Amino acid sequence: MSSRQADMPVGLLADVFERIEAITSRTQMTALLVGLFKQTPPEIIDRVVYLIQGRLWPDWKGLPEIGVGEKLLVKAIALATGVTEASVEGLSKSLGDLGKAAEQLKSKSTGRSQGVTLLSYTQQRTELTVNRVYETLVRVAMAQGEGSKDIKIRLLAGLLKEASPKEAKFIVRFVEGRLRVGIGEATIMDALATIYGGGVAARPLIERAYNLRADLGEVAKILASKGLEAVKEVRPEVGTPIRPMLAERLSDPGEILEKVGGDAFIEYKYDGERAQIHKKGDKVWIFSRRLENITQQYPDVVELARNHLKADEAIVEGEIVAYDPETGELKPFQELMHRKRKHDIHSAIKEYPVKVFLFDLLYLNGHDYTVETLPVRRSKLEEVVDKVEEFTIAEYIRTNKVDELEKFFLKAISEGAEGVMVKALHGDSIYQAGTRGWLWIKFKRDYRSEMVDTVDLVVVGAFHGKGRRGGKYGALLMAAYNDEKDVFETVCKVGSGFKDEDLDKLPEILKPYMRDRRHPRVVANMEPDVWVEPALVAEIIGAELTLSPVHTCAYGKVKSDAGISIRFPRFIRWRPDKSPEDATTSNELVEMYQQQLKKITGETKPSEEA
Ligand code: ATP
Repeated sequence: MSSRQADMPVGLLADVFERIEAITSRTQMTALLVGLFKQTPPEIIDRVVYLIQGRLWPDWKGLPEIGVGEKLLVKAIALATGVTEASVEGLSKSLGDLGKAAEQLKSKSTGRSQGVTLLSYTQQRTELTVNRVYETLVRVAMAQGEGSKDIKIRLLAGLLKEASPKEAKFIVRFVEGRLRVGIGEATIMDALATIYGGGVAARPLIERAYNLRADLGEVAKILASKGLEAVKEVRPEVGTPIRPMLAERLSDPGEILEKVGGDAFIEYKYDGERAQIHKKGDKVWIFSRRLENITQQYPDVVELARNHLKADEAIVEGEIVAYDPETGELKPFQELMHRKRKHDIHSAIKEYPVKVFLFDLLYLNGHDYTVETLPVRRSKLEEVVDKVEEFTIAEYIRTNKVDELEKFFLKAISEGAEGVMVKALHGDSIYQAGTRGWLWIKFKRDYRSEMVDTVDLVVVGAFHGKGRRGGKYGALLMAAYNDEKDVFETVCKVGSGFKDEDLDKLPEILKPYMRDRRHPRVVANMEPDVWVEPALVAEIIGAELTLSPVHTCAYGKVKSDAGISIRFPRFIRWRPDKSPEDATTSNELVEMYQQQLKKITGETKPSEEA
């Protein structure tokens, strides 16, 4: 990193940090920052902002961290102050703070107390500057591999040698990642607005730029060196994450539709990881909800974006969801977490395959789409995505009717989604980066509960497998027994939980019972690849009981146009000891569902939180 000419003493920064420790009001904090920024040359204001934030660059850049643990830091302090490591450790223990220990040792080693004036210091030593500190810390971070520990210690010791006691304290805290001076982004933006925007009234403009480019250092630099007009001109940039738009939540579908203006897009709310996908030529970046760079974790998604986003430059948003390629079923979020825990990414990709469901387009070939309405963004997204099974657009409908919303919600849940997102599509329905507002409203089941008991269900159909299960059966259609009508009513399609040998044996097990048509005692809306006579009973567990428009179990009993279903069902074992009439009854499932509801309302009431 090259030295920049404009510079300032890092002591000014250390002063602010120290004074901030002693004050409590945000106004005072802003005033201190205003004072600091006034003395900061525009060329280095980005560095000053990063240092205030306790980092060297925005986290999403994915650059190395400082990588100096306490042990190394102790070594560096010992080296810089000429005492033993044991005495550094001892002092740190008694003061409860390694930063303070460094400060004390420094004042002893220079033979001066903290009270000494800046002037007398400058006569004593070369003054440490922001660039010198910043660039040295960057070198510390960049030192990697063999011998890097020694390099890191040497660089740090050199820096601490030159530092005043107060500066040493903050350098040590910075390196420890504990520079808790508590200056938030909002305070930094207020201070910037005061100096460069003519007052806090300019803050929304600065915030807008920051929302479009999640790099406060960069925004500060544009503002300080080019002025507010240039900040107004800030557009999204491929490779720099946009702060995500967030949703409000409501639990009444009628109120939700009213709030978004009647007509709305209703989309599946997938239970996966949010991904902001940037593409420029062949290069692809993926950023998480928290704007971490997660590109390395999803080489498969990178490949999909490269091949199926038809644009030179684009920023799109979607949800990455784990799924079972053999049954096509979506899997819960936890499944993605398993993937993240695996070290070997290539085997993780195979073991935990994912699909991407895109829901927004923010930027395309030089054009900022965040200022466009949702219908415009959506139709452009349709144009840009070359849809395939694993890379497609979120399932959605457009409606202004409550019953259609409810029906779609149940369908979403029964297919493994968490609920729906209801999105405004009127003239003001822009993409509000970094904002939680009423343009998007999430409608989730306002409860969460475990299905504690297993149920015994009857096989009434089977589906052909795909992928590794090609040529075999991949999932079974399961039913409960309606003992009043003496029929079997479908509850779920189960494709998980089978061991390989279970699957291998399925054709043989099913063969005696296979039929061309639905058995007259089976009530189903769903059409399996083969029908099976109700004879075989299996034990099933799931995440919870839900309502579903596609399953017929106790249809209309709890809700007029829905039956009871099981979310994320898993096969446990066969129950050859049970006849189909011994299976769990539809009425029992109604009871279990009501029990679950009772438990949920009982649990959630006190906090009013879902
Ligand atoms: P937050 O609202 O702050 O993100 P949260 O984690 O509780 O908090 P969720 O309730 O999960 O948020 O709802 C928002 C998230 O839903 C989005 O961040 C996104 O990851 C996910 N999501 C799934 N499907 C969609 C969709 N169709 N449109 C928008 N977001 C979706």
